[in-house]
Order: sequence, then structure tokens, then C-alpha cells
Amino acid sequence: MASEEERRAVCPGCDVDYLRVIKRFHSEPEEAVEFFRRHGVLPSEVYCPDCQEPCKLRKDKHQWYCGRYKKYGNTKKRVQCSFCVSDYKGSFLDNTHLPAWQILLFINHWIQKFWNHDVIITCLKWSTKTSVDWRSFCSEVTLSWLQNQPPIGGPGVVVEIDETFFVRAKYDRGRDLRDVWLFGGIERVGKRFFLVFLVKGNQVLDRSAATLVPIIKKFIRLGSIVNSDGWAAYRRLADEGYTHRVINHKEAFVDPDDPTINTQTIERLWRDVKEWSKRPGLRTEYFEQYFSRYLFLHANREQTLHHFLIDAAALYTPQSDQPRERPGAVPAIPTGLPPKDDDDPDDPPPRPLYL
Ligand SMILES: [Zn+2]
Ligand SMILES: [Zn+2]
Repeated sequence: MASEEERRAVCPGCDVDYLRVIKRFHSEPEEAVEFFRRHGVLPSEVYCPDCQEPCKLRKDKHQWYCGRYKKYGNTKKRVQCSFCVSDYKGSFLDNTHLPAWQILLFINHWIQKFWNHDVIITCLKWSTKTSVDWRSFCSEVTLSWLQNQPPIGGPGVVVEIDETFFVRAKYDRGRDLRDVWLFGGIERVGKRFFLVFLVKGNQVLDRSAATLVPIIKKFIRLGSIVNSDGWAAYRRLADEGYTHRVINHKEAFVDPDDPTINTQTIERLWRDVKEWSKRPGLRTEYFEQYFSRYLFLHANREQTLHHFLIDAAALYTPQSDQPRERPGAVPAIPTGLPPKDDDDPDDPPPRPLYL
């Protein structure tokens, strides 16, 4: 079993940019299938559950089969094992009839900063619904990544934490708008960070110690030096295995007596995130999805495709017995495009949607 680091190490030939991916995989079904396989999205081996022996891959049919001859009861007759399973079973590609290269090109496009449904619909000749569905499936991967961001900090490492008001949105099934906050931490030197949307399902979370301390313990390694403002919820941190230093936001972001105590780094991160959140066309009910994608791209600026596929493989273990339900659990964000059959030439051209 490969370690997390080995899994994440970029494979040879994987450092591919947007256009090279298109050049390499466009209309190359087998090459795309093998690319998925190399990243663990598809299985490298499958064992027959009856014979406990490795199966063979029938590439043209995308199936693994056993085909071993076994004794038939007490007779001399031998029968062939009929075990056969789809190469895609349980995987990110489960239940799709689309060619693998098209899905790879969709992912390649979706992980670009300015992706656009129109490009997919025009270039891959997909329906709007298919494009919307695959956006949901890809969102599941980045949402899962968001919930499992790797912990930051470590003994002696300075981590700045903070919460910031983010958006007023409809939550808790009410009609009223609720304040949604972001909470996060960033290493002052390494700049590795985590961010969490303070919502759980459809519920808005408060900023109490009961909410924040478990998040801190999940995402910040024990022994870290945690800088924060004087928010009451952080008071317990010194008892939880951290060195806690308090600075007062209102007076200064930098402690005048000790300039190493500050939260300037996270303030900068908030500015970036808030700037992004003001983009037109964002719908508050899908903020967590947008946000997970934005952050995933932010955190995986290099070899994005590689990292996306590794995470897709982790979320949808190939040959899992739980076939994917499609469309996924993530609600599909409407495109803002007209339905496919609606070809009224008088319609204004749809606004590009690349969120
Ligand atoms: Zn790779
Ligand atoms: Zn068998």
C-alpha cells in the first residue's frame, strides 16, 4: 500500500498543461483509460471473488474477467469461471457511457480558473444536463477534499487562525438570510493553510469553542504556535496542546511589543477569498461547492489534474461494492443556459458561466 506521499508524488509525464492534455487524449480512449488507471481512478488489478485469483482485463469491453477452469463437483468435468465485472465499477467513471477521453477533457477544463459550460457543450457535444451532472461529480471530489484538507503546522510552527464574516445566505431551511462565517488557519512561513465554511449540511454553525476547537484539532497539528485575536472561543487552546498567543485586531495586526505575533498572513488570505466571492453570478446556496473548487485550485496550483485524479480515486474506490448513485449527492448548480431544445434565435446569448 503506497503512503500518502507516494500517492501524491507526481508521476513521470504527468506534469501536463491544459493544451497538452487535449492534444494527448483527444479521441484517444485507451490512453485516457490508462491515465485514469495510473492515478488509481481505475483498478490495476481485480481478484475473482470465487477463485481468489487475479482477473484479466478485456480492454475492448472495459471488463475484468476470470475465465479460470474449475472442477465441477465430483465429476471430471471442468467448467470455466464466469466472473466478470466492469472496469469502471465503483469508480469515478461508474455508470457512464461517455468515452473516458471526454471525461478526462471535461475534468481538464473544469479545473481551469475560467471554465465554461459552453465550451463543453460546443466542443464535446454534451447536453447541458450532462455537463451539469459532471460538474456535480467533480464538485463531490473537491468538497471531499475540503473536508479532508491535510493538517498544517507542527511543533514550533507558527499558525495564524481567524474567523471572518463571509456571506449572508439562506440556510437552516428558513427564509431569513443567515450570516455564514469562514474559519481558517495559515502557516506564517510555509503558507500552507486550511479554510472551513462554518456550515454543516444545511445548518449554520456558530463561532463557539464547541465548534472551533474540534476544527482546530483536526486541521492544526499539536505543538503548533497558534496566533489569534482575543475571541473567547480560543481561550482553551493552551490546554489543548498548543502554544497560544493572542493579539488584538482592533489595536494592531502586529503586536507592538513582539512583531512576531501577528495575524497579517491570514488577513491577506481573507482578502483573496473575499475578492473571489464578489464575482458575479455566484449563488449563495451553492457557495460551499464554488468555494471547495476555488480552494482546491488555490491549494493545487501545480499538477492540478494529477491531484484531482488522486482525490477522485480516494473518494470513489475502484471496484467498491457501493455503486455510485447518479446524479451525485451534491445538488446540481443550474447553468443559467437555456435548455438544450430551446433554440429560439431571438434569445440573448447566455451569460458565460464558469464558476
Ligand atoms: Zn500523475
Ligand atoms: Zn474465478
